[in-house]
Amino acid sequence: MVYFDYVKPPTLEHLLEGLRQARFEGAVLAGGTDLHVKIRSGVACPRVVFDISDLAPCRGIVEQGNHLRLGAAVRMSEIVASAAVRRKAPALAAAALQMSSRQIRNRATLGGNIVTASPAADAVPPLLAADATLVLLGADGTREVPLAEFLTGPGKTCLGKSEVLTEVVIPSQGPGCRSHFVKVGRRKAQAISIINLAGRIDIGQDGLVRDVGIALGAVAPTAMRARQAEKALIGRAPSAKNLAEAAALAAEECRPISDVRATGSGRRLLVEAWTLRLLHLLCETGGARSGGRNS
Ligand SMILES: Cc1cc2nc3c(=O)[nH]c(=O)nc-3n(C[C@H](O)[C@H](O)[C@H](O)COP(=O)(O)OP(=O)(O)OC[C@H]3O[C@@H](n4cnc5c(N)ncnc54)[C@H](O)[C@@H]3O)c2cc1C
Repeated sequence: MVYFDYVKPPTLEHLLEGLRQARFEGAVLAGGTDLHVKIRSGVACPRVVFDISDLAPCRGIVEQGNHLRLGAAVRMSEIVASAAVRRKAPALAAAALQMSSRQIRNRATLGGNIVTASPAADAVPPLLAADATLVLLGADGTREVPLAEFLTGPGKTCLGKSEVLTEVVIPSQGPGCRSHFVKVGRRKAQAISIINLAGRIDIGQDGLVRDVGIALGAVAPTAMRARQAEKALIGRAPSAKNLAEAAALAAEECRPISDVRATGSGRRLLVEAWTLRLLHLLCETGGARSGGRNS
């Protein structure tokens, strides 16, 4: 039996004070779908857990100017149900819908998915492709960190021991921009991704690629941007040849390992095939709202 104290802080100030007093032996509890597993297996042994699942500043989805702000404790099911997310960040809505099962989506939060820092976390590639930033709160105030800098390794982030992730800020997708998410797993539900990927593209009036973001999951120590592939597309026409060249570059630049779900070389083949499919979906009409699924 594992024992720990359970605290439900009413405000962020109480939470920060609690974490300070726990002297690095406290843990934030959001949905608990990762934390409880870690506690039961002995990987985490907090003396006290601080439940933020109902903490007002970490809840809610707000459109503010050109940004969409999501509280860290927003649940995956709330993301799926949000018209604002479907409109402004459709790849994230698609990723949330394809996560696990309805039961897990009703508990699991966006913040928990990010802080766990699994290379296969499904919500991360859409956020990475969209250049999302994170609002972190600690004793010295808030700081805003690009998601790409927050993730430092498998299970590792730059979050300080007594810091909390309060919000995720996503630049809104403009009217000409399309985005898409693809999850490749062994089953259609309750499957950890073998690979996952998200893309966003903005094609100008001249028919050339103005901006593009391609993010790959489960093929490197952290989810990663395929920068070489992106560079190869900017300023060029999205022709079949150019898309194929970009997909090949994405496969070259990822660093997959072999594990129980797939071999490294198999993952690399999947990256090339699914990046090509993702890019074709983005360049056809209709890519903005849908999200791909393993087949
Ligand atoms: C059966 C099952 C299936 C799953 N399937 C998937 C899947 O398909 N895809 C996928 O990506 N994941 C999956 N997961 C993993 C998990 O559900 C997600 O990572 C989930 O989003 C974690 O969110 P949570 O709110 O439950 O996090 P918690 O378990 O509450 O927290 C996770 C970690 O983050 C920390 N934390 C949480 N919120 C904050 C915060 N705001 N500030 C600072 N630290 C914080 C906690 O201290 C803990 O270390 C699955 C898990 C289970 C058990």
